[in-house]
Amino acid sequence: MKVTVFGTGYVGLVQGAVLADVGHQVLCVDVDAAKVAALQAGQIPIHEPGLDKLVTSNHANGRLRFTTDAAQGVAHSEVIFLAVGTPPDEDGSADLQYVLAVARTIAQHMDGPRIVINKSTVPVGTADKVRAVIAEGLAARGASHGFDVVSNPEFLKEGAAVADCQRPDRIIIGTSNPASEARLRELYAPFNRNHDKIVVMDVKSAELTKYAANAMLATKISFMNEIANLAERLGANVEAVRRGIGSDPRIGYHFIYPGVGYGGSCFPKDVKALVRTAEEIGFDPLLLNAVEARNEAQRNVLFERISAFYDGQLQGKTIALWGLAFKPNTDDMREAPSRNLLESLWAAGARVQAYDPVAMQEAQRIYGQRNDLVLAADPEACLQGADCLAIVTEWQIFRAPDFGQLAQSLRDRMVFDGRNLYDPALVAGYGLGYVSIGRQPVP
Ligand code: NAD
Repeated sequence: MKVTVFGTGYVGLVQGAVLADVGHQVLCVDVDAAKVAALQAGQIPIHEPGLDKLVTSNHANGRLRFTTDAAQGVAHSEVIFLAVGTPPDEDGSADLQYVLAVARTIAQHMDGPRIVINKSTVPVGTADKVRAVIAEGLAARGASHGFDVVSNPEFLKEGAAVADCQRPDRIIIGTSNPASEARLRELYAPFNRNHDKIVVMDVKSAELTKYAANAMLATKISFMNEIANLAERLGANVEAVRRGIGSDPRIGYHFIYPGVGYGGSCFPKDVKALVRTAEEIGFDPLLLNAVEARNEAQRNVLFERISAFYDGQLQGKTIALWGLAFKPNTDDMREAPSRNLLESLWAAGARVQAYDPVAMQEAQRIYGQRNDLVLAADPEACLQGADCLAIVTEWQIFRAPDFGQLAQSLRDRMVFDGRNLYDPALVAGYGLGYVSIGRQPVP
């Protein structure tokens, strides 16, 4: 099938590459000319395991192409994906300007029937808005081509985006139109062989499903962080509690790790947008507000611990920081907890020496050149001359460090671990002080 994808970010680029890889003819359109030029030259603008190879091989065989030419994109295929950003507006609601801009572009250029498939995360009712914008655009041109707008939310996880798109847990198709449903079933057939993963529902339910999924995951994290705060104050160990509750199959072990709060481009914005949606219809989202409030507080926890250790005197201190990305296996720093920590440390007068396996270029792009930020070549170099170590991202490379070397390198022999990577007794055995989340500090 021929497929057009508007937006070549984490979702559009991965989806486009995965569709091309099974044989579809994919044209990706983006307004960012530099990004398109880079992709045409074989440079992949984001870090995603396996993406590089997938994009270059399918670009080379001609099934995956890139353009800034929206007219060409609309002409290319009857099936058009929207995978553009929906960042939070000032009031927390999802900003639909990019989605609606693409809808206008489609109306301007379409020369026959189209199925517009929305993969961006959008509030309930957005498909109707997209439909209205296209109808209005067509009417302004005096054209009357048939079209449908389908909701097909994306559930990929950054850091595992290619694998998630190749082997999705479920494929939600929000439409009441049997012809659109049939077309999407055909498109996704290569990903639906093992068992039927396709769940068809009405458009609004599909739109809400995406927010419900992210809000549920955010809730699990905030719940566990709440328990971690209690455990710490009650003299308990949240890691024991985690394993204790995870053993109940109704709860399960997944996604109940305490830490420094959720971040990234999705959970914070999607919880906020769902809160806004609720408020707009006069419903008080008590639980969602609490999820967000716990997260906001949790993002400051590591800074508070470091500051307390130094009695609020951070001026002139050098903090080694392991991890910048909002989670492992990505270079994405959108709403990353590392940013709260960095900015609080700088505001308090501390210097930071940071190391991240892939996100350092992104940190450089965000913060530019500053005297109080040194990006280190490796985890060990990051420790040299530092007073203490803070850990915010649970990259594999940080899981079994040389504790003897940590004790030698860190002036104050302190580790502040926002991800509970180590056994406190083991760390203490090397003469290090160790503060983690929801456990008693050692020594
Ligand atoms: P992104 O910011 O990485 O990429 C969006 C791309 O759209 C950019 O390259 C931008 O230049 C392009 N764009 C903007 N306006 C355009 C236009 N008019 N025409 C063509 N291209 C245009 O965003 P993302 O992370 O890929 O997210 C896209 C959507 O998918 C969002 O709604 C997001 O919530 C949702 N989503 C994201 C993830 C994720 O993990 N990143 C997962 C599931 C769903």
